[in-house]
Amino acid sequence: RAKNHGRNRFNHYNRSMNTVSSDTLALESDLRHALERRELYLAYQPQFIAASGLLSGFEALIRWRHPKHGELGPDKFIPLAEEIGMIDEIGLWVLRTACTQTVKWRQQGLHNITMAVNASLQQFNSPIEFGDLVASALNETGLAGDRLEIEITESLFMQDIEDTCRKLQRISDLGVKIALDDFGTGFSSLSYLRHVPFDVLKIDRSFVNDIGKGIGGSELVRTIINMAHNLGKSCIAEGVENLLQEQFLRENGCDFLQGFLRGRPVPAEQIEITFADLFSPPHRAGGYNPN
Ligand code: C2E
Ligand code: MG
Ligand code: MG
Ligand code: MG
Repeated sequence: RAKNHGRNRFNHYNRSMNTVSSDTLALESDLRHALERRELYLAYQPQFIAASGLLSGFEALIRWRHPKHGELGPDKFIPLAEEIGMIDEIGLWVLRTACTQTVKWRQQGLHNITMAVNASLQQFNSPIEFGDLVASALNETGLAGDRLEIEITESLFMQDIEDTCRKLQRISDLGVKIALDDFGTGFSSLSYLRHVPFDVLKIDRSFVNDIGKGIGGSELVRTIINMAHNLGKSCIAEGVENLLQEQFLRENGCDFLQGFLRGRPVPAEQIEITFADLFSPPHRAGGYNPN
């Protein structure tokens, strides 16, 4: 690459030449073509109503089928996409793809489902306002705003809180729900909960993992559920891996459940096979048996 080009680029992304390995450079150049080469796809993980076990919706989780390295998870390439200025493009693709899939599945019988999409701090800090991307994805696909949920993390509250709230309110005004992902793992204070417009509190899987273990593990989860409800929000637990956790969460009023126990993130075709009962009319109640 040309010297000047390289220097400008690295300055721009605040990255020094000598910390970047050739592997990263290769991956970076691959990522620039991943969308057009259709190597990115969304895996969908089901979410369930805790009380009934019925399917409530999905979380869309991005994957990269890399021609050489096989399947790569978001942790392997989302930070890179942010660094090289591709996150807006990828973020819009994720929104469009997830919304299109939701419209299709709703037409095919999953009328009441919601779709959760993750957004990173960088996506909220981009000059292209994330709310505009959400609005255009809804417009293009015809998905009703209240069928979409945007998952954000507490990292957003470590910066200009008024600006963050304004951006979230703009999304909320579209009817879209806001979920606080990985709740309890950030370093922000609880006071922001009173000011930030959000609808759903998502209990981090590290807390779910502590259910039934040691002193206070279960009590902490119970307290988070009660706090969400006292604030007028609903709550979902992520990372539910066993029956003990599921039963505890259900008995303590957690509204929704997500985790490997009831469903891993899989491609859309796999969802259509797993939940075939729900897709094929006449409609039958499906999900899992909560007892
Ligand atoms: P997240 O939003 O907290 O997503 C949950 C992660 O936990 C997913 O990892 C999922 O596969 C995993 N998981 C789900 N159930 C269980 C379980 O029962 N046990 C365990 N151990 N893990 C479980 P994944 O797909 O690797 O995603 C990692 C993170 O990448 C996500 O965390 C999210 O923050 C981010 N991410 C995913 N898709 C996107 C995207 O489209 N855009 C952006 N900006 N970030 C994304
Ligand atoms: Mg998430
Ligand atoms: Mg999470
Ligand atoms: Mg996480």
